[in-house]
Amino acid sequence: MKTMEQVLQDWEAVIGLEIHCELTELETKMFCGCKLEFGAEPNTHTCPVCLGLPGALPVPNKAAIESIVLAGLATNCEIEKHTMFYRKGYMYPDMAKNFQTTQGPKAFAMRGWLDLDVDGKGAEERLDMRDLAVGETHESATRTETGYTTHIGITRIHMEEDAGKMIHVGGGEGRIDGATHSLVDYNRAGTPLMELVTEPDLRTPEEARLFMQKLRQVYLSLGISDCSLEEGSMRADGNISLRRRGETEFGTRTEMKNINSFKALHDALAYEICRQAEVLEKGGTVVQETRHWDPAAKHTISMRVKETADDYRMFPDPDLAPYDLSDEFIEGVRAKLPELPDQKVARFQRSWGLSAYDARHVIEHRETSQFFETAMAQAGSEAEKLAKPLANLVINDLTARMNADESFDLASCALTPARAVELVALQAADTISSKQAKEVLEVVFGEDKDPAAIVEERGMKQVSDTGAIEAVVDAVLAANPEKVAEYQGGKTGLLGFFVGQCMKEMKGQGNPKLINQLLEEKLSS
Ligand code: ADP
Ligand code: MG
Ligand code: ZN
Repeated sequence: MKTMEQVLQDWEAVIGLEIHCELTELETKMFCGCKLEFGAEPNTHTCPVCLGLPGALPVPNKAAIESIVLAGLATNCEIEKHTMFYRKGYMYPDMAKNFQTTQGPKAFAMRGWLDLDVDGKGAEERLDMRDLAVGETHESATRTETGYTTHIGITRIHMEEDAGKMIHVGGGEGRIDGATHSLVDYNRAGTPLMELVTEPDLRTPEEARLFMQKLRQVYLSLGISDCSLEEGSMRADGNISLRRRGETEFGTRTEMKNINSFKALHDALAYEICRQAEVLEKGGTVVQETRHWDPAAKHTISMRVKETADDYRMFPDPDLAPYDLSDEFIEGVRAKLPELPDQKVARFQRSWGLSAYDARHVIEHRETSQFFETAMAQAGSEAEKLAKPLANLVINDLTARMNADESFDLASCALTPARAVELVALQAADTISSKQAKEVLEVVFGEDKDPAAIVEERGMKQVSDTGAIEAVVDAVLAANPEKVAEYQGGKTGLLGFFVGQCMKEMKGQGNPKLINQLLEEKLSS
């Protein structure tokens, strides 16, 4: 198979996501009073309603509707005031009712959007953005200094209920193949579930991954779900098709269901791009089907041919009256909107002069965002000056540590926000060099001490005494007369050589800024 980069030279991917999110922060299920609890003893949170026993009558959970309206407002959706619940045929045993209650053509939230900022290596997947100048637009994407921004339409967010859980026994790794029997746990059946459907506006696996990540940030800020991909409270279906570059019609899509990590979402879509290209380039056709991503084998396999709308037998639920939302209700929910991630980015830029890139990466995790805010509050009048180096510390060192080690907890680690401020202040004052700052950071983690104390103890102070540096600079220039002549003849790239020599002389403790400055002065005189 060709690599994705090769395929994308000739083909464009068209991707749409369906993202399910359980409202885990609620007390009770969608249509009954059963308690929501992850990991409870199987079948202890069930009742006639969520088991679909004859005569049981559902009552919608108002708190769940408040949550979905909040989600809709936070993703720029229009709120539909008049909607209905529908029954959708469901033929698997993990739902005892034989149908799933969901919404019809009109959902509580419709026609929204989110803007995505794509940068770093991930931006390179989008070949058509590479050659644009900053500010130039192609389709709904605009080139930026660090990558590009793209506008992703949200078709709708509708309310539905989750199914229960099947446990297959006797097969390998809980899969149904080879199982001797299956158990079912209905505790999850009837859990309030929001499904967000995007327009087919995504163009690369990286965009899909970032969209899900951003949506998770939004939902977390709303406090409506724990959005745990590992525990399955947030999961995505990825729909993808290919078309020749320049073609405007969409190709036939495949769908990968229940993807439960950001990496899996990216990798499954990337694999599917390569697989579909191979089929199409051999003259074959892509079959519209559901495929399963196997992360261990790193490929997708066919699961079932897609159901048609008829298979769902959708009709309005006769047990649930049409739902009308009042303006007061909607405005009441709007008043509860917290600061959203995009607003936080804007505030970090405004308050401390961070770049959009830095602000976005600082707020990527709730922990880093909080850490940064606390540190800035402690930096007091120095905050603006220290914001950039502190952002670098958070993005380059702390986020990397969090990613590398799952047990690393920023909130309780040896580097408190106060120590972080002390560390970047030492560097900003040129007391220590950036290289020394990295060493000090390691010692803070290793020995749980204050940065200033470490610097003192180890005599790490950077030499910023102009007289001492000048003596070294003079000696280095005197020792290299030919190089000085070359520099003065126009080979200014030699500056690095002179800096290196001075640093060596000073055992790495010379202030690089001063060394550079003195060298330039002396070489140009
Ligand atoms: P269904 O109801 O069968 O799941 P939808 O029309 O609701 O189908 O689309 C589901 C998802 O698939 C949406 O996110 C949509 O953007 C996406 N999608 C639709 N057509 C295509 C296509 N040709 N290629 C890629 N994605 C698509
Ligand atoms: Mg679907
Ligand atoms: Zn119940």
